[in-house]
Amino acid sequence: MILQVDIFEMFLMPFRLMYVAVKIPLVALSYLIVGTRKTVQAGKIVKGHLSRDLKCPQGHLQPADAVWECNCGFKRGGFVWKACPACHLQPSHVDCKECGLSIVNPAA
Ligand SMILES: [Zn+2]
Ligand SMILES: [Zn+2]
Repeated sequence: MILQVDIFEMFLMPFRLMYVAVKIPLVALSYLIVGTRKTVQAGKIVKGHLSRDLKCPQGHLQPADAVWECNCGFKRGGFVWKACPACHLQPSHVDCKECGLSIVNPAA
C-alpha cells in the first residue's frame, strides 16, 4: 500500500513541478501587472499635482497658480492644491473661473 502511494507520488512529481514552474511566472507576471498599474496611477496623481494648468469638465484651461478662495472663505495666491493657511485643509475641488463648474483635486 505504502509502495503504491510512493509510486503514485513519483508519477505525479513531474506534473507538480510543471505546475509550479508554470504558476510561479504567472504569479510574478500578475504582480508585475498590478505593480505597473499602481505605478501608472501614482504617476497620474503626481502629474496632476505638478501640472501647472487646470482643465474643467468643459475644457477651459486655467493656470494652477492663481488666486483661490478656500471653502472657509480664505483667499490666497499660489498653487491651487496647496493646503489653506487658515483652515489647513487641502481643497477637494475648485470652481472653474470661466463656467463655474468644479474641478476635482486629482490627489484627493
Ligand atoms: Zn481654508
Ligand atoms: Zn470651465
